[in-house]
Amino acid sequence: MDKMNQMEELNKEIGSCAKCRLSKTRIKSVPGEGPLDAEYFIVGQGPGANEDKTGRPFIGRAGKLLTELLALAGLDRYKETFITSIVKCLPTPPLNRKPKPDEIAACHDYLARQIELFGAKKIILLGDVAFKEFFKKEKFSDWRGKWRESGGRKYFISYHPAAGIRFQKFKKILEHDFKNLVRGNEKN
Ligand code: SF4
Repeated sequence: MDKMNQMEELNKEIGSCAKCRLSKTRIKSVPGEGPLDAEYFIVGQGPGANEDKTGRPFIGRAGKLLTELLALAGLDRYKETFITSIVKCLPTPPLNRKPKPDEIAACHDYLARQIELFGAKKIILLGDVAFKEFFKKEKFSDWRGKWRESGGRKYFISYHPAAGIRFQKFKKILEHDFKNLVRGNEKN
């Protein structure tokens, strides 16, 4: 099966998944979006209400900010990145809560298979929940705004754009971080 078919199969599986309680409250699963040859693989926390309605990642205000941040890094969101999240269904109730450990564990296999399928070598982790999924024993604050290598992949760590929507202070830090994420500057 070629990669496109594999991705479509995986998306179907995610679309009908009932491995955790979030399947009972979601409208649509949100597998992720982006071209198969994307150079950057982006991982957020989980879908919000707009994403739940449409099945597409990062389409609300945080998504608009993410698109702008990627442009600061010289990246075209739609041509050069694949965007997904730790859990593929809206965490609720309450609306937009953090996903629980058992929900993250139930969804882990989908993320692992996507990383494999995309052959992701440069992964951008947005926020503490995404960071902890990859680096359980490490402190987010030690790595924010930096690239780090692990297991033959490079990871760039920053806040979730939703934090930048809520607080100007975080928006400034995000802008600073993404200006450092320029192509060819992955070794800092
Ligand atoms: S969050 Fe993941 S594991 Fe849970 S129902 Fe959705 S796709 Fe399945």
